[in-house]
Amino acid sequence: MRIAEIIVDEAHADIDRVFDYYIQADCENISAGSRVLVPFGRRKIEGYVIKLKDTTDVPKNKMKSILKVLDEYPVFTEKQLELAQWMKQQYSCLLIYALRVMLPSPVRGGSASAKQQKYAEINFDLKIADEIIETLKNSKKQKQIIEYLLEKGEDIPLSQINSDLGESSGSIKLLREKKLINITEKRIYRKPMGTMEDKQDKRFVHTSAQKAAIEKILNNKTGNKKFIIHGITGSGKTEVYMHLCSKMLSEGKGVIILVPEISLTPQMVSSFRARFKEEGAVLHSRLSAGERLDEWQRIHSGEARIVIGARSAVFAPVASIGLIVVDEEHETSYKSETQPRYDAVEVAQYRCAQHDAVLLLGSATPTVSRYYQAINGEYNLLSLPERVGDAELPETRIVDMREEFKAKNMSIISRKLKAELEACIDKGEKAILFLNRRGYSTHVSCRDCGYVVKCEHCDVTMTYHMTDSRLRCHYCGMEIKPPSICPECGSKYIKYFGGGTQKVAEEAQKLFPKAEVIRMDADTTNKKTSHYDILSEFEKEGAKILVGTQMITKGLDFHDVTLVGVIAADMSLYASDYRATERTFQLVSQVAGRAGRGSRKGSVVIQTYDPDNFSIIHASNHDYEAFYAEEIKMRQIMLYPPFAYYSRWVFLSEDEEGAKYEAENAFKKMREYLEANPDAAASVISMDIAPTLYVKIKGKYRYQLLIKYYTNENGQKAMSFFSSLNRYSVSLAFMTLEIDPLNMI
Ligand code: ADP
Ligand code: ZN
Ligand code: ZN
Repeated sequence: MRIAEIIVDEAHADIDRVFDYYIQADCENISAGSRVLVPFGRRKIEGYVIKLKDTTDVPKNKMKSILKVLDEYPVFTEKQLELAQWMKQQYSCLLIYALRVMLPSPVRGGSASAKQQKYAEINFDLKIADEIIETLKNSKKQKQIIEYLLEKGEDIPLSQINSDLGESSGSIKLLREKKLINITEKRIYRKPMGTMEDKQDKRFVHTSAQKAAIEKILNNKTGNKKFIIHGITGSGKTEVYMHLCSKMLSEGKGVIILVPEISLTPQMVSSFRARFKEEGAVLHSRLSAGERLDEWQRIHSGEARIVIGARSAVFAPVASIGLIVVDEEHETSYKSETQPRYDAVEVAQYRCAQHDAVLLLGSATPTVSRYYQAINGEYNLLSLPERVGDAELPETRIVDMREEFKAKNMSIISRKLKAELEACIDKGEKAILFLNRRGYSTHVSCRDCGYVVKCEHCDVTMTYHMTDSRLRCHYCGMEIKPPSICPECGSKYIKYFGGGTQKVAEEAQKLFPKAEVIRMDADTTNKKTSHYDILSEFEKEGAKILVGTQMITKGLDFHDVTLVGVIAADMSLYASDYRATERTFQLVSQVAGRAGRGSRKGSVVIQTYDPDNFSIIHASNHDYEAFYAEEIKMRQIMLYPPFAYYSRWVFLSEDEEGAKYEAENAFKKMREYLEANPDAAASVISMDIAPTLYVKIKGKYRYQLLIKYYTNENGQKAMSFFSSLNRYSVSLAFMTLEIDPLNMI
């Protein structure tokens, strides 16, 4: 008897393990990775075959049989099953979550179906065409259809006949009965982004830097297939990716290209479509269920071997991967903040190792931790130090907003920026105004002297919580009442930093009634095509100002933007996060990179209350290396990544005692482990249930167990025990593991 190990498609810790089922004789095409229907308790549910085997310890009378194999092919490859097991370990998530994230929901429950289209074709020998037409001389419509088909010379969709010749279904039916035509059905694939016109494919003679980068990747003999390409904005990274894609295709291999968010990179997608046509597929969450199904199947069948997509496209069912590219590697959107909480860059790395493929991370502002690893030999470092062609880097000026305040200019637009905007609009050119607004992270600062309230223990900015008007440190839990006068200069203009894109857009419109002001943020982009519509509008001829959030910093390539204004560079600087300076450097560099990409030189105005901050100064000089050198020193002193990491378990429950019990229980287990393992203990810098940080959110109590550990082997040892603490849970609280979380709220 053959037996299958199956995991059922239900998310519950108690049943997140394999169950054995008999395979009946009629389930021939079953294999590891097949999607099946099985009896489970009193229900029938979907499941996935993890393994086939011949023996089992389960008693015969306890075993049931698989009811049905649901697809003609396995939906997972062996390698994907392996990857899912790795994710379960790595992220302490349910195996079923890891499997689900690999399979778009329309493929799972089958909520969308393949689209078929009917075609008509001639069903007689063309030599007798004249005679046939003669026989139809009294049926005008039928004659017309036959002549039309003869003229087209191929099978034509019925819908097209109807639209070209007018409603024809009656006549088609008659022709079919006379066996003069054949009706066939074909699978058609819905095309995402079908509304976008494909650009002309542009081919370039590569610059010497592009050539060198490509050469190093293709003729790499180091045995290390991990690369970071550090290329300033506009240096031609995309062209490098595309060239490598062609190379991989010619070797019979596939490629996955990850972008931070696909709707924000329409230009990149259309460049790929222009070059790779049907070989390219797009995967992202804004596709309709049908489109997603079709794209997934085109990839699965090998018809499309180049996949572009956002985070979860890293799981695309490409059979033989030759290359995975992660563009804008530094973007936070590559980390999933819902179950399973995976890091797409780590997953990409795992898949590349499985396939012996090249991993290529690209950025103008590489993550500090990864750049450190690159310098230490973990990645091969490539660089594209110059913009392509004669486009020069924009000229950048920093405006001290405290001076504006002193000069009684209360506007959010400084005098300098206003003057530049005026000149830009007068010339009929385009400008971008960027405001980095992160919902919750308001900080308290002084408009007079720029003082910002920070935690005295952790040196990170304290976050203002509206609900109880307190300032909290998200790292150690310290909380204070916000000061009403500035402790530094005594000014009473100390307050929360607010303001939003809407306010900036209104102000810009008021100042420049002649210009068209367009806003792009979460509020204006809720439709599927909004991003594209907004950007197309902006691209049109004429003086325009685009006001937006982070969204506009990514991947846009407009040749006639000559001015970029950063409204408040400080906003991200004062996020309560060790990455705040890094984020600021990245944002300011990225947004500045949008200016002057064409032949006209661009200019950038950076408004800030902290003009001496090194991240702002180095960003304005386009100097990543200088920024990196200072930042890495700070990280070492403060023991932040890559030298040490924070991770935490979050315990969530409606029952406060339950959450607290689980947190304390986990803490106890961890302490016992560390007492028994002094070498691991030596690598733990701190561990605590942050007592003041349990906040009630949506009726639930939250406790956290926070650990900080050195990045070394012993630290990893401690961390791997920490990751498995959910083993000891007694289910009084929902437990989530967060490794190096993006925020500590
Ligand atoms: P990045 O991704 O590094 O920001 P892109 O790949 O978008 O840069 O390139 C910037 C611009 O330069 C694009 O308009 C692109 O079409 C063009 N480009 C890229 N490579 C070349 C080249 N070798 N010669 C001329 N133009 C190029
Ligand atoms: Zn002050
Ligand atoms: Zn603190």
